[in-house]
Amino acid sequence: MAGTLECYSCGTRETFPTRRCSCGEPLWFVYPDSTDPGAPGAGVGMWASGAPLPASRPGGFPGAVGNTPMYRADGVVNGTGSVLIKDETVNPTGSFKDRGTAVGAAWAVDRGMERIGTVSHGNMARSIAATGAALALEAVVLVPADIPQDRLGHIGVYGPTLVRVDGDYGSLYEQSYGLESTIEGLFVNSDDPLRIAGQKTIAVEIMAQSDPDAIVLPVSSGGNASAVWKGLRELRRADRIETFPRLYLVQAAACSPIADAYRAGRSRVDPVDPDETVAYSIANADPPSGTRALAAVEATDGAVVSVADDEIVDAQRRLSRRAGRRVEPASSTTLAGLESLLRSGDVDRDETVVLVMTGTGLLASTTEPAEPSAVSLDSLPARLPGFVAD
Ligand SMILES: *Cc1c(COP(=O)(O)O)cnc(C)c1O
Ligand SMILES: [Zn+2]
Repeated sequence: MAGTLECYSCGTRETFPTRRCSCGEPLWFVYPDSTDPGAPGAGVGMWASGAPLPASRPGGFPGAVGNTPMYRADGVVNGTGSVLIKDETVNPTGSFKDRGTAVGAAWAVDRGMERIGTVSHGNMARSIAATGAALALEAVVLVPADIPQDRLGHIGVYGPTLVRVDGDYGSLYEQSYGLESTIEGLFVNSDDPLRIAGQKTIAVEIMAQSDPDAIVLPVSSGGNASAVWKGLRELRRADRIETFPRLYLVQAAACSPIADAYRAGRSRVDPVDPDETVAYSIANADPPSGTRALAAVEATDGAVVSVADDEIVDAQRRLSRRAGRRVEPASSTTLAGLESLLRSGDVDRDETVVLVMTGTGLLASTTEPAEPSAVSLDSLPARLPGFVAD
């Protein structure tokens, strides 16, 4: 289904490849009122969710992205609470970004294009590079000149064309779209309408797997929060859900333009001057879908909170030690955010809350344990109850 683009804010309609409304807000794909997003369709992965998508299911792993598991993890909360984890870390390149990339790449394949590109040095870059490799598209990834070798390596393994760019990296987000005719390909940046279309399937899956009071997710560009809201809107319009779960968005305190705007009661998000944070995947100081993310919070009666780096690291450790899941600091913000919401009373301890674990922590190096315990084999039996040496 090809779909038309619409502005959530002023209702203006456009056609792709326009990505932004003349009012300045981002566009998303809309479908005829009769479209039922919740009727499970044929196929695998996110294509089985039934959600209408603007591209056909691609081959290779991109055609199997999504349909991720959900499970209980009450033990991760300090105190009591009813927690469900929506585990996006099991996507092929380790993050939810694969959903949006799959739709973008499928769109390119449907139109006989030979290249897909993105402006990213993290999960989105890896996702585009791997997806391009799987679909025989050349992946063009624009990275900042000072990207650490380790990060570059995790993108480079898939064989993309890597372009190190000097100068104002932030301005490439818009500029890259101007390169599309030159590279005869498609750029799929953080809040691209194609990306939003793919990522909305997270919400459709969550509502098929559970009936939560609230969903907590980390927010950076605001693209994924917008996508989850979009999925919920489509379900609501088709009467597949009666009410919206509350959407709670979490930022790192060191870079929190959306939380700042929320706290100040503003309905627009302005850029901030950020500090460093461990949650490097959510450090967008000038989020292109920030204002739309605020609208999502407003519409679902949620909130935006920010959490400090030490809370983020503590939550990350608890997810490892009490649920056996290693996630990025960007993702553990959801647990730290939930605890803040439990303390403030925004969320009740008996409510069911879904935390979206957006990305894996397995790619990062770690210094744990700080002091490895070493015992000699001779002394080991004494330390293991029930072990009988002969
Ligand atoms: C991209 C990303 C986010 C933020 O998503 P946005 O759509 O930019 O708001 C959160 N967590 C992880 C792991 C990510 O890679
Ligand atoms: Zn508009």
